[in-house]
Amino acid sequence: MTETTKATIVYIEDDTASRMLVQRVLGNKGFEVHVASNGLDGIAIVREKRPQLILTDINLPDMDGREITTRLRSLPHFSNVPIVALTANIGPGNRELALAAGCNGFLTKPIDVASFPKQVEDYLKGRDEKLKPAEHQEHLQKHAQNLVARLESKVRELEEANQRLRELDKMKSDFIVLVSHEMRTPLTLISGYTHLLEENMKQQAGGQIPATAVAGIAEGLTQGVARMREVINEIISVSRIASGTLDLAIGPVQIGILVENLIEDFKQVCQERNLTLHVGDLKKIPIIEGDGARIKIAFENILGNAVKYTPDGGHVYLVGRHIGDTIDLIVKDTGIGIPPDEHRHIFKQFYVLGSIEHHSTSKSAFQGGGLGLGLAIAKGIVEAHNGRIWVESEKRDPKTLPGSTFHILLPVKQSVPQASDN
Ligand code: ADP
Repeated sequence: MTETTKATIVYIEDDTASRMLVQRVLGNKGFEVHVASNGLDGIAIVREKRPQLILTDINLPDMDGREITTRLRSLPHFSNVPIVALTANIGPGNRELALAAGCNGFLTKPIDVASFPKQVEDYLKGRDEKLKPAEHQEHLQKHAQNLVARLESKVRELEEANQRLRELDKMKSDFIVLVSHEMRTPLTLISGYTHLLEENMKQQAGGQIPATAVAGIAEGLTQGVARMREVINEIISVSRIASGTLDLAIGPVQIGILVENLIEDFKQVCQERNLTLHVGDLKKIPIIEGDGARIKIAFENILGNAVKYTPDGGHVYLVGRHIGDTIDLIVKDTGIGIPPDEHRHIFKQFYVLGSIEHHSTSKSAFQGGGLGLGLAIAKGIVEAHNGRIWVESEKRDPKTLPGSTFHILLPVKQSVPQASDN
């Protein structure tokens, strides 16, 4: 066995039969042959294996052999490694184009099994089929023109594909919104009938809902329907945010009043779980321009999380300050905290921290999880108001309870007029 027969060779070829034949013929002669079926994989394998010789087909599904060669020649390690085109494409000018692109040789398929290993050894020993300078120049220019033409058509293809994807994405969002709306209709019916049932029981029992099994069922139904409505609303909001179709009904918003209303909803759960809610003086916060209903949802989600991720007996602080033309609303808790490397991720859709096995669907129980949409919705709403939202927390530790602090920064005035909701 000669020294060159121990060489590593990469062969880039999309035709399986040709790949197997070359691999067998060269393998039998002691070469270590690695194969790839397309240009991108080929370049990756070449970079990994650092072969002494590269064989490449010209017509490949993604990049062609000439493009692969030009790319490899631009990489420091492969500027001098022999690259040989191996192709059935023997039309006029093909050989010259391959050589101008940087190939050292041009062999035709089907290979001659008897002479092929010797031809490969020649290239390994330095055989280089150079073109005359004028011929090289002419074909190099042609090669460059081909590259630009290919680039143009690829850019066009990508733009079209991107457009199609955007349309599909919109269709998907529209579909989700439509289905969610359709689901709300029967829910409204169930909720209405449950209410009627409760009213009826009240009337019969003289003003109070009796403690009967039917009353218990009605209460369960009411709670189930309310939870389902929340989930549906979350899905609608997040899909509107994702598709950029979250319209805002801009008007004056009094944060102090908004928070007052909001904390009413949390009073009971805080009492049940012995959580203390400290609310700062929000009267000094100026009236801002925004969509009050949506800002309330954003705030509700952050406050809801503070409650969910703080163990019983803990504290939640809600304060606000006015800085220049912005207001900074802060929700701080004495809960389990969030690791710094998760701070960015928790605002993504469907992102939940920790094992979902322990998630309960409760909105208020300690560590009662949701769909992982609450923060994505809050972020979408805040950003639609040209604001910013972020979290500060040292770590996550259910024992030492480092706590988390969420900031919601909102501009007092909206510079760009927003479309009103419909
Ligand atoms: P979910 O509705 O499941 O709580 P969110 O989008 O509201 O989803 O929150 C994403 C994740 O961020 C949660 O799974 C939770 O682990 C973490 N997280 C959010 N707020 C807090 C907080 N105040 N303290 C600790 N972890 C939090």
